[in-house]
Amino acid sequence: MATLATDQRVYNFSAGPAVLPVSVLEQVRDEMLCLPGAGCSLLEMSHRDKRFLEILADAQAGIRELLGVSDDYEVLFLQGGARLQFSMIAANLLRGQDKAAEYMLTGSWSKKAIEEARKEGNVNVTWDGKANQYSQLPTAADYQIPADAPYLYYCSNETIQGVQFQSEPTCPGSVPLICDSSSDFLSRPLDIAKYGMLYACAQKNAGPAGVTVVIMRKDLLAKGSDDLPGYLLYRNHAENDSEWNTPPTFAIYVLGLVTQWLKKQGGLQAIEKQNHEKSQLLYDVIDAFPDFYQGHAKVDCRSKMNVTFKLPSDELQAAFLAEAASQQLQSLKGHRSVGGIRASLYNAMPVAGAAKLADLMRAFAEKNA
Ligand SMILES: *Cc1c(COP(=O)(O)O)cnc(C)c1O
Repeated sequence: MATLATDQRVYNFSAGPAVLPVSVLEQVRDEMLCLPGAGCSLLEMSHRDKRFLEILADAQAGIRELLGVSDDYEVLFLQGGARLQFSMIAANLLRGQDKAAEYMLTGSWSKKAIEEARKEGNVNVTWDGKANQYSQLPTAADYQIPADAPYLYYCSNETIQGVQFQSEPTCPGSVPLICDSSSDFLSRPLDIAKYGMLYACAQKNAGPAGVTVVIMRKDLLAKGSDDLPGYLLYRNHAENDSEWNTPPTFAIYVLGLVTQWLKKQGGLQAIEKQNHEKSQLLYDVIDAFPDFYQGHAKVDCRSKMNVTFKLPSDELQAAFLAEAASQQLQSLKGHRSVGGIRASLYNAMPVAGAAKLADLMRAFAEKNA
């Protein structure tokens, strides 16, 4: 039975929830009825059970180890997805301030973050990529951040447009840098010391839906007002080690297994190399057939996670998707807001999956160009 289910698996290019490592899914299956030594399923266990507290601590430790997170930061597991962070960040760090928070407007997700932040206070759009349909990102010469801004917010990888910052924006040391890393979390090494806060919903690159990881510098926890609804106050979660209320136990368990899997792959340096290799397979074909495949992202802003491109007509696009589906290459349709094709190549996508898609792209262009 196990083999049958594994045999039926396709290459899944979904943008999220997305592909997970098979070995992680197998372990979840094996431990579903009874977590070893626990006498019951994790799904049936109190979040205050010693066994779950170990799982929570292991998941935190896995993230700390992979990213080199120091004791100056809390690692929190929250609910409400990345979108609740759009509101929580502004509610804790912007509400009641005169100064405007700085936001980089680089695509659909930062746009939505700005809409939520404006409900809490003043926002200055530091840079707006609209003139180029959000196909490129700013360089340090394109903007200036006031040294007294409450924070600078950016999205490291715009999942819908497929543009990715290759390094952090330049930000004065006095201004906390805040990053939505939802779709490239744990895809490459980072210097966390550069950040005031970095967060990611898990369901793109790190686990199942239901948990959002927040890595926050401890001095920022003091800022939120006690008038906020309790769930929205970061320090409530920090003071209670993510058990202020019942955390999403199952999602945290799977996230922890993914961090163990990443360590076995050789950590983030090794996984970054693989992510580079996978995305380059596709970009090489796009560059070989520039009149047939129109890549959305400017070359130096290309995402290693979400490769976005268009074909010359809607008919060819539909034919391409049908051909892909017949070859077990699934969920390649671009986001409804922008159309086209989007291939998401998260950590758990094998190189063989990207290679198979690249082969199809080459063959399809040769036949139809
Ligand atoms: C998916 C995504 C979100 C939204 O996440 P939810 O968990 O659905 O709220 C926000 N930002 C980025 C970059 C994303 O990819």
